[in-house]
Amino acid sequence: MAKGEKKKLGCWGGLCLFFGVCVLISLAAVLIPVAIGVGAWFLIRFIWRRAVIEDPDNPLVVKGLSLAPIWRKVLAAIPCFLFSCCMITSMTSQSQSTEQEPAPVTDAAQTAVAATTDSPVETDLEVSIIDVGQGDATLVRLPNGKTMLVDAGPDAQAGAVENELSKQGVDKIDYLIATHADSDHIAGMNAIVSGHEIGEFLAPQSTHTTDSYLDLLQTVQNKGIVASAAWAGDVIAYGPDFSVKILSPAEGQMYTESNDWSVVLLITCGNTKMLLTGDAPKEVLKGLNVGKIDVLKVSHHGSDTGTDSELISALSPKYALISYGIGNEYSHPYQSVLNALSSATVYGTGANGTIRLTSDGSAFTVAPEKSGAVAAPDADTTDSAPAEEAVQQDSTPAAGSVAASQAEQTVVVTPSGSKYHRPGCRTLSRSHSLTEMTEDQAIASGYQPCHVCNP
Ligand SMILES: [Zn+2]
Ligand SMILES: [Zn+2]
Repeated sequence: MAKGEKKKLGCWGGLCLFFGVCVLISLAAVLIPVAIGVGAWFLIRFIWRRAVIEDPDNPLVVKGLSLAPIWRKVLAAIPCFLFSCCMITSMTSQSQSTEQEPAPVTDAAQTAVAATTDSPVETDLEVSIIDVGQGDATLVRLPNGKTMLVDAGPDAQAGAVENELSKQGVDKIDYLIATHADSDHIAGMNAIVSGHEIGEFLAPQSTHTTDSYLDLLQTVQNKGIVASAAWAGDVIAYGPDFSVKILSPAEGQMYTESNDWSVVLLITCGNTKMLLTGDAPKEVLKGLNVGKIDVLKVSHHGSDTGTDSELISALSPKYALISYGIGNEYSHPYQSVLNALSSATVYGTGANGTIRLTSDGSAFTVAPEKSGAVAAPDADTTDSAPAEEAVQQDSTPAAGSVAASQAEQTVVVTPSGSKYHRPGCRTLSRSHSLTEMTEDQAIASGYQPCHVCNP
């Protein structure tokens, strides 16, 4: 029995010792400054005694000796006490500030902070549809601080993209995405790649190409930038409350047009969703079964190849954004598209300049540069509506060889269009006067084949 009690006591003793050590450690922050203060007090007392013995005639020593011993001790204690207090304050405030300071801006640190907080998103998602005239350029600032540039407009508008980047203080572009090879989307990208640090470059492994696109790929390669093929299912970036996912093009699918290859991106931030469509055809977009979204970046500058009421009722976007240039030769945006978008609030770069959007994870807010209503150009003044800009500046070799073999075919052109069409092409539905000629005459006159009817 006695042995058992002894054992029990031993256990309790160990436990007490453990708690004692814990208390001592937690008090160390206070005890160390106190110990230093006491030590300083003894040091002052020691110096005083040496001074009394070695320099008794010093006026300070004489003055000190006139005081009662208790006041001398108190006088020595005052600076020691103040010193200890200062040390305790600085030590506790230092430990508090390291708890409150935000983590450094690195991916891992930010993810760790976000994972332990209950806030809906780390910071807001910011999207800017940059006004690049007739073309496309979208700057995305992700909640984790990374930046993504989707397309960079035509060559002549690289300055507009550059302006927006510097206005927003963006130097490094973490993800640069070329939606497809058409020059109104990527010709301005060469200058951006040359002038900025690029993290990663993504583009479709398109069978269609343009000279601008080949130049861009060469620049990317020369700079040693990591380039990846964009395929549906890839997630470009993600965090605890956001993701950027590629929905199209699908691997293994054979696309016939340049626009069909468009990289379609779904950006999710908290409970909000935005769809970036490039120039993707409506058939492709409908096949993605995206469900309801908050913001639609309208495909193909508001052409009817990218949007119809069936697609809009499936997506039911609150906001629709169209990137187009006033007076463009394609009659973008189409009235039929604006009709389909009647349930949404529509903004367009032609009418509103650069359009900036912000999502806090629960809703998007839109801030256009200027007010104005998006309207379809007058059908009478722009009677031609070629649907493709794919070969506007850069014709594909394939298109040239097909044209050569069919030189005797009769084709039609519009007074203001740059393309020649098969008679009855659906892009001619609003054209009043058509001129017939042979295909080789059309080619000789500088016309290029329409990519809708493929004459
Ligand atoms: Zn295009
Ligand atoms: Zn385009």
